[in-house]
Amino acid sequence: MLKLKLNKITVKKLLKGINNESHIRIMEVCGTHTMAIAKAGIKQLLPANIELISGPGCPVCVTAQEDIERILILAKKREVIITTFGDMLRVPGSTGSLQEMQAQGADVRIVYSPLDAVNLARNNPEKEIVFLAVGFETTTPTVAFALEDAHKTGVDNFSIVCMHKLVIPALKALLSDQETEIHGFLLPGHVSTIIGTIPYEFIPREYQRACVVSGFEPGDILESILFISRQLENADYKVENQYKRGVKTEGNKIALEIMDKYFTPFNSLWRGMGEIKDSGLRLRPEYVQYDAIFKFGLQDTLVQLAPSGCICGNILKGILKPEECALFSKMCTPAFPVGPCMVSSEGACAASYYYAGGEVIGR
Ligand code: SF4
Repeated sequence: MLKLKLNKITVKKLLKGINNESHIRIMEVCGTHTMAIAKAGIKQLLPANIELISGPGCPVCVTAQEDIERILILAKKREVIITTFGDMLRVPGSTGSLQEMQAQGADVRIVYSPLDAVNLARNNPEKEIVFLAVGFETTTPTVAFALEDAHKTGVDNFSIVCMHKLVIPALKALLSDQETEIHGFLLPGHVSTIIGTIPYEFIPREYQRACVVSGFEPGDILESILFISRQLENADYKVENQYKRGVKTEGNKIALEIMDKYFTPFNSLWRGMGEIKDSGLRLRPEYVQYDAIFKFGLQDTLVQLAPSGCICGNILKGILKPEECALFSKMCTPAFPVGPCMVSSEGACAASYYYAGGEVIGR
């Protein structure tokens, strides 16, 4: 069943160790984990009492609808070139997607690094280059370095739509939500390379939940589930670091410093979760000239409703599963997505669609 190479004996050994008989709900809060779990068929390997649920770990999926609407307005401006990572292209807004606007003549380009967008600005001084800055702590430092480059070299036709989110406030919101039943967290390996493990200590201390920072190979994930199961069985709640080869306790100081130089937390809107205190990042006032929303006067764009029938919000909180959406694999497929959880390569709906039952379907 595993699609990735993993020694059968190791799998058996790990599964044998998971002998906690209680019903355990474990949430992953990283889109890469969501895809890795689905691709490797890990849910199908686990005992029936262990339930894996996807949380708000896909950055495109949690981006608020009003941000999508603002981006579509920006893309209509003749002087603007929108630069973005690929996933944002097909997220539906009320008037279509960026991809549809591209087909109608809007200048929308995929870049592989925010620095590519700064270079584009440098080479096109008559244009305004707007980079769609989406992602958690993993991607924010790269955007901060691009801002540093633009600032130091005087590139003033570069700006960003800042939609960065922070993982810790989202975890706090989930743990405070009475509707969400979570016994343990598979903590995001990539984000943790930046923030380290210390910021998670409130989880066992204040909420008595198990948590393990996990790597991304199937063996990493199974081992992390085993660690969570043991913590719960022994009521020995702590932050364990299974991904020691990538994550240091203190995180990455250089990345944290440059993030702090350019960004400051604010109360941010999350799809399905509403406004969460200090959960987003915006540019510090001294760098507001790089904020595309201010530059183009889009602060007052009306909030638009999420696509009709889409339950992404409840999926991101772990309350419902993709298969419980009436549109799943009927009206909503990766080719014709209705909501962002089906668009993103890290979305829970896309993961379920492609790898349901451990088999690849829908290709
Ligand atoms: S299947 Fe489509 S419409 Fe349903 S929740 Fe997922 S993204 Fe939204």
